[in-house]
Amino acid sequence: AKEKGRNNYQFYTPTLNAKTLDRLKLESDLRSAIDAGDFELHYQPQIIGSSGQLWGLEALIRWRHRERGLISPAEFIPLAEETGLIVGLGDWVLVQAVKQLAEWRRQGHNHLVVSVNISALQFRQGDFLDRVKHILQEAQLVPDAIELELTETMLMQDVQSAIQTLKGLRELGFRIAIDDFGTGFSSLNYLRHLPINVLKIDQSFVREMLQEPESLAIVESIIALAQALGKETIAEGVETRAEFDVLQARGCRLMQGYFFARPMPPVIFDQWYQQQTQS
Ligand code: C2E
Ligand code: CA
Ligand code: CA
Ligand code: CA
Repeated sequence: AKEKGRNNYQFYTPTLNAKTLDRLKLESDLRSAIDAGDFELHYQPQIIGSSGQLWGLEALIRWRHRERGLISPAEFIPLAEETGLIVGLGDWVLVQAVKQLAEWRRQGHNHLVVSVNISALQFRQGDFLDRVKHILQEAQLVPDAIELELTETMLMQDVQSAIQTLKGLRELGFRIAIDDFGTGFSSLNYLRHLPINVLKIDQSFVREMLQEPESLAIVESIIALAQALGKETIAEGVETRAEFDVLQARGCRLMQGYFFARPMPPVIFDQWYQQQTQS
């Protein structure tokens, strides 16, 4: 009777049904896309504010859907997390980013840092360290130019084991950034013990800081905190000259956002870079 009730429920709820179907379609599309390799990485420049020089690039995944064109990660990363598909996809992202970095190195970009987003589920895999170690060995690259972006929330879930994993990553040579910093609930006490390099100021604060004194105060506090702890800061979502100026004046060293460049495929990056160095 219970089974029947459940069926009836679905049957009489067309909107839920449509949603469920959409989800199932997206999930099966996602599986085929992974088999077919229908993904690409775009890269968004990160700039040293004081000199305008290129510091690094953040790798951001896109799905080139056969019918729908480019799909943003906001739409499929949550599903990839729920289904566990993110683990394989995350490996693919890291492999691609590492290859791209090696290619840029060959082209003479010797000091670039490439940042890669790591999902919570990926980070929690018992063999995460082994997997990244393996990827590095394949690439024969020193990882000091690869920065892994982790969120506060994922580090705070199980702090002791997160610290162990982070130590392992740092021993391998990776740089670590805390993404979306300020939106989670980091304990300042734990922050002291986390072997990280960078606090990445969340774009929501940058977006509001010129209108809202509270947001500006948060931005200033993050910069001060990072300085006190000997960490770098990078602000994301910098869209205007005014935002750039404020961040610069407050001592935020690195910046990323549409004001400098949008995420772009590597070929477009090459053109962009040439224009930068010419002008
Ligand atoms: P995120 O890591 O916080 O990445 C920053 C997002 O802000 C990117 O969106 C970027 O395109 C966008 N952005 C950059 N500058 C500006 C700006 O000036 N203004 C505004 N409004 N937005 C800006 P995107 O590429 O759509 O990625 C969304 C999220 O998807 C990322 O947020 C990240 O959480 C996730 N994601 C992207 N690529 C990957 C990946 O390879 N693996 C995992 N696990 N997650 C990824
Ligand atoms: Ca990120
Ligand atoms: Ca972010
Ligand atoms: Ca985000």
